[in-house]
Formats: sequence, structure tokens, C-alpha cells
Amino acid sequence: MGCQEAHAGHNKNVKGRPTAATLREIYQELFHAFGPQHWWPGETPFEVIVGAILTQNTAWTNAAAAIENLKRERLLSPSALKQIPVGRLARLIRSSGYFNQKARRLKDFVRYLYGSYQGDLTRMRRVSLARLRNELLGISGIGPETADSILLYAFGKPVFVVDAYTRRVLARHSFISWDATYQEIQQLFMDRLPGNNSLFNEYHALVVALGKGFCRKTKPKCHTCPLRKVGRLCLETPAAAKPF
Ligand code: SF4
Repeated sequence: MGCQEAHAGHNKNVKGRPTAATLREIYQELFHAFGPQHWWPGETPFEVIVGAILTQNTAWTNAAAAIENLKRERLLSPSALKQIPVGRLARLIRSSGYFNQKARRLKDFVRYLYGSYQGDLTRMRRVSLARLRNELLGISGIGPETADSILLYAFGKPVFVVDAYTRRVLARHSFISWDATYQEIQQLFMDRLPGNNSLFNEYHALVVALGKGFCRKTKPKCHTCPLRKVGRLCLETPAAAKPF
């Protein structure tokens, strides 16, 4: 079977899911190559949440510049974001792109935080993973990747974060089809690895390092990549491959 057939979009055409041992091997290779990533860059849980929203569809450096603006104006707290008019907030986070949408998202998050938890992240953290995830997904503009990033990196909940790099790496190694859903990919990790927030924290950060440094959209650097011997490589990207 050629790459084209394997990428036809049906799981039955994919050579095989990675075993738990393979997922551990991938982790070890990446950790050996890149070392600890110390994620998430953020001094407080609230800063992590704001960063998770601001980095949607943009590079982290653009989100970080917006966060610096908020810090400089002493606005990086739930109470300050509750008070600030949405127009001023949008101007301050302009560098993160889609700034009007993201300003509304931040306001929506803060409204939810006050409505459900009196503005207190410590109260919010006490709630179960499943309930919090449902609640976050109920906020307009917060999808599974952002919700899971908040749950894992702001609250230390044991949930695996999937992103476009995760799908690209697994699809190029013929472990999944290019149209695998977020849920399918997440289950693949969570069914095979211990539900450990430190492991999930480091694993996702390492996949991002891999995607940025080696597994790029075009011209992946397979010949020097730490994963070059894992699975069955197939680098054709079907036109149907789409973001989550
Ligand atoms: S760069 Fe190549 S070897 Fe490395 S993860 Fe991507 S497809 Fe695999």
C-alpha cells in the first residue's frame, strides 16, 4: 500500500495504532533530544489561561507581547479584566491577532469565572476535570485544544493536549489518518499512558518542540530528526488535511 492509500482518510487504511511502548519510546527520544521544556511559560494560572486564549491561531511570541502589555498596565488579573472596556482590551492585545474576538473571549471567560466561581481560580481548580472541561467548552471560542491547555497547564489536571503538530507527526508515521479527530488522537494517548499531569505536560511541550524544529509543514527535517526510526514514514500530505 502506498502513502496515498494510507491517507485515504479511513482508519482501516492506517498501518497501525502506536502501542503504549511506542508512545513511551517517542517520549524518551524527544526528552533525550530536547530535555525538559518547563511549560507553560506563565507566572500564574490566570496568566496561563490568558496565554492559552491569546495564542490561538498565532505564534507564541505574538501572544507574549500582548501579555506584556497587559502586565505593564497592571491588567493581568480577573478583577482588572472584568472592569476594562472590551475596546481598550482589544487594543492592548492587538499583537496577538484576531484581537476583537480574543478580547471578547477573555471577557467571556472572566464573566464565567465570576458567574460560577466568584472570580476565584482556586475554587475553580477544585472541580472535577470532566465538569470543568464541559464548562470551558461552553464558552464561545474555546475549543478542545484551548480547554485542555487550560486544564493541564493552569490547573494541573491530567489531560493530554492535542494540536496540529501532534496530528502531523502521528499521521506522517502512519499511526493515524490525516482526518483523525481531536478526540481520537487524545484517546490514543490517554488510553495508553498513565494519567499523569507531569507526563502529559512534558509530552505535549516536546511535541511542539519537535514540530517547530523538525516536523514542519513543508520540508520536514527527517534525516536529523529524533523520531526518524519510529513507525513507517509517509510524508505526503493530502489536501484534505485540515486544522481542528
Ligand atoms: S520530521 Fe520526519 S522523522 Fe521527524 S517527526 Fe516529522 S515525519 Fe517524523
